[in-house]
Amino acid sequence: MQSNEYIILGAGESGVGAAILAQKQGLPVFVSDSGQIKPQYKEELEQYHIPYEEGGHSTSRILSAREIIKSPGIPDSAPLIRQLTAQGTSIISEIEFAYRYAEDSVMIAITGSNGKTTTTNWLYHTLHNAGLDVSMAGNVGTSLARQVALEPHAYYVIELSSFQLDHMYQFRAHIAILLNITPDHLDRYDHQMELYARAKMRITQNQQPSDYFISWIEDEWTQRLLQEPGMGAGRRLFFTTESSSSDAVVASSLDGQLRFSLQEPELVMPESSLALSGKHNVQNALAVGCAAQALGVESDVIRASLETFTNVPHRLEYVACIDGVDYINDSKATNINSTWYALESMRTPTILILGGTDKGNDYNDLMSLVREKVVGLIYLTTDSAKLHRSFDTVIPRHEEVTSMRDAIAVARQMAKAGETVLLSPACASFDLFTCYEDRGDQFRAEVLALTQEGKSNQ
Ligand code: ADP
Repeated sequence: MQSNEYIILGAGESGVGAAILAQKQGLPVFVSDSGQIKPQYKEELEQYHIPYEEGGHSTSRILSAREIIKSPGIPDSAPLIRQLTAQGTSIISEIEFAYRYAEDSVMIAITGSNGKTTTTNWLYHTLHNAGLDVSMAGNVGTSLARQVALEPHAYYVIELSSFQLDHMYQFRAHIAILLNITPDHLDRYDHQMELYARAKMRITQNQQPSDYFISWIEDEWTQRLLQEPGMGAGRRLFFTTESSSSDAVVASSLDGQLRFSLQEPELVMPESSLALSGKHNVQNALAVGCAAQALGVESDVIRASLETFTNVPHRLEYVACIDGVDYINDSKATNINSTWYALESMRTPTILILGGTDKGNDYNDLMSLVREKVVGLIYLTTDSAKLHRSFDTVIPRHEEVTSMRDAIAVARQMAKAGETVLLSPACASFDLFTCYEDRGDQFRAEVLALTQEGKSNQ
């Protein structure tokens, strides 16, 4: 028999946020986590008198729920989720749930295989500079549900993963941005690129003609799926990095100039003045400028915001220059495409530290850039066989290591003044680190320890 309970699976930031919102709305709610709940979240659940369990699920209670709000970390293949799906229980994401109670706010949603966090933060920075009552949500920081419950805003810039989109049905993005679709997380989509691409396209669902859908006209998967009938009713705004001349192109980067022409007079600024370097960041900037113009932000504010942004750590983060060698932390590069862009942006001979948990990578996609830019490779992983097979004949200078300390020690020996040491692993971090942040933090700490060493030797 169905109960009237809303059951929240997973008590992390999004789950606890959803629980607080449900409680505030007077809905019967129960939180269930198969692992241990962090003390800070337990305290909050208790403070709000929200019932919960940890270390296991009360299956029969969950199976009779009215609706499930599922953490994006729980895969659809988990037995409990399969059972719920089979019996037709509604399973939604925290964003979908929060949206029900945020009808008056403007929702700006951002997805893509790479660049979501950067673009979300950059657009937030721009809208904040424009004086709007704006906040960020999604994969970054405070959950949307918590904000809707406790400190609502007029505008939300929301980073959405494909896992969140999988469980969104009514959510309507007033502005939807789809940056790119390249292989990632295929293990959760039956190894079918098409299923993953379709999950990303869900960002367009429920859009109305007065809404905007912003995408990169050179992205193959996005444009292919956009041709299908019924795909997104929002006004299509494209940005181009080649010389595409479609009428819907409203932003471009050609011959070193960025142009935004949704508003008159158009905004023109040199690519070299952007706060972030690399071709990928040109795409991110185009998306940001385009969305800001759609929201009526003035050109001067857009220009200044594109010129003055400081990115979150671990994304081509400059760490230090030691003995003439630059050290750059791009630990967030957990797939081939992001490493491709990192290498592409290198202007000096590069020692590349890569490797980790392989997600089915095809390293051939990196080969021409590796030939052009890389002078030494360091394989940082517990399983380097595939890296050896892929790269050894191309780059004779290579070594394998299993700790960041050793990686930096080897890098220091390999690199000459005027070269760059780049951590851009193209893999997940879980074989040697707790997460990509841990990997990047260790990189930064080891590099900064070298600068201290230098000082104490002086
Ligand atoms: P996401 O949130 O989608 O993982 P991030 O902004 O955190 O994206 O960046 C992840 C990695 O991808 C970083 O290594 C970054 O340098 C790279 N990157 C950022 N923007 C893009 C883009 N538009 N295309 C490809 N790679 C990108």
